[in-house]
Amino acid sequence: MTRLVWLRNDLRAHDNTALARAAAQGDGSLLALWLISPGQWRAHDDAPAKVDFWLRNLAELGKTLAALNIPLLLRHAEHWDDAPGVLLELCREHGVRSVHVNAEYGVHEQRRDQAVQAALQGAGIAWHSHLDQILFQPGSLLTKSGGYFQVFSQFRKRCYAELAAHLPTLQPLPAIQPPCAIASDPVPAAVDGFAAPGDALRQLWPAGEAAAHRRLSAFADQHLEWYDGQRDFPAQPGTSRLSAYLVAGVLSPRQCLHAALAINAGEFASGNPGVVSWINEMLWREFYKHILVGYPRVSMGRAFRTETEALAWREAPADLAAWQQGNTGIPIVDAAMRQLSATGWMHNRLRMIVAMFLTKNLLIDWRHGERWFMQNLIDGDLAANNGGWQWSASTGTDAAPYFRIFNPLTQSEKFDPDGAFIRQWVPELAGLNKRDIHNPAALGGLFGAPDYPRPIVDLARSRERALAAFKALDQTP
Ligand code: FAD
Repeated sequence: MTRLVWLRNDLRAHDNTALARAAAQGDGSLLALWLISPGQWRAHDDAPAKVDFWLRNLAELGKTLAALNIPLLLRHAEHWDDAPGVLLELCREHGVRSVHVNAEYGVHEQRRDQAVQAALQGAGIAWHSHLDQILFQPGSLLTKSGGYFQVFSQFRKRCYAELAAHLPTLQPLPAIQPPCAIASDPVPAAVDGFAAPGDALRQLWPAGEAAAHRRLSAFADQHLEWYDGQRDFPAQPGTSRLSAYLVAGVLSPRQCLHAALAINAGEFASGNPGVVSWINEMLWREFYKHILVGYPRVSMGRAFRTETEALAWREAPADLAAWQQGNTGIPIVDAAMRQLSATGWMHNRLRMIVAMFLTKNLLIDWRHGERWFMQNLIDGDLAANNGGWQWSASTGTDAAPYFRIFNPLTQSEKFDPDGAFIRQWVPELAGLNKRDIHNPAALGGLFGAPDYPRPIVDLARSRERALAAFKALDQTP
């Protein structure tokens, strides 16, 4: 019986549940499919760097699959509305009797899969959707009253209990399949409308499972034990930089979990603080995916805390542009935004700082920031990005309370104490000492950096403005 595995954000051969199950299901041909959907990608603001990363990883995966006699087929479906027709036609062409996928959790992804499932089942083709992208089935971890968790610490406690009872195991690599006469399709080097990034960016994110595992091993060997103390310092190589690999599914969360447990005697909630803290972050990833399913409105541009929809955000295109381009006159914010443009990635501490700055000091709607991040991040992920933005904007689940506004200058002094990160990304300030570099405006025009802008906003006054805007919400009947 011919089976098909439809790959999406699961671009790996090892520990891929859909692939492993499809391989184990019979002894006929096994085919793999990937859809090229530029219209849908544009609608979702997928960054050109992310599309390029998909294509480079697909090319690598194609080689691994070829060695297993699994042809990789590529089809064009401009939008996901076209997916049912494209899949049906492919299944008819090759006599496919069953289709395996790994489940995805955005509203559009779920609707796409329901439509494809209906079309295939109408034609007598079986549909199998597997849990793979996360550790627990959404809906399987609920509060005592039967709702989705809204508080992370409670969710994490539940995850710990489940992991202690049953640690997810890794899926086997498929066995070599019988030879198949169907040829693989070539993976394009680029897709129209998504400019390939330069070599410098590509080299930061080498493609393929082998590269991902090298990064995971190096992090586990050299940094993981110190993660807790180093993770907040953007000038240090203290975090794993695995997010892009997790988002594209080149690595699985199970592989990461097992790598972490291996150096902590199998413990996830105690033992080495670095390991515990890193697993904690992986559970934030899990938490936000569950939120996406439990509260689908966050997938549709709506605030989790619906009362914040009435907030009087500013329309300030010039301020937004200055933030996007890294020209706000606040060095840590500008360094971070320039890191994003140049590398497709930003350190987590900085994501929080720039998001708070945009939504509190500039009082600009978090949706503008969320969109800019998606359009530029190589690791752009609806659940984590939306969760991070709504956390920073105090509109989300378990969010930062609105009155706890980061001061970017204090954050800068604390987390980039020598100014090394600022110096790397804002060369105009490289000549300033480690005290002045955080706030060159305080030096006055004469001693400051002539090529660097003055702050576009007064931090103290804008803080008060944000507090007033949020307080006004409290009083809304
Ligand atoms: P590590 O510190 O090594 O963490 C390991 C993994 O845990 C990460 O790769 C990631 O998969 C997960 N993780 C870590 N922190 C978080 C978190 N706070 N929420 C969810 N998952 C987390 N992460 C994305 O993957 N995609 C996004 O689009 C994204 N947008 C964000 C936007 C904002 C405003 C904020 C505040 C955070 C966002 N994050 C996003 C979360 C986090 O910043 C990144 O996952 C992290 O910086 C990636 O670097 P790393 O791989 O070195 O992380």
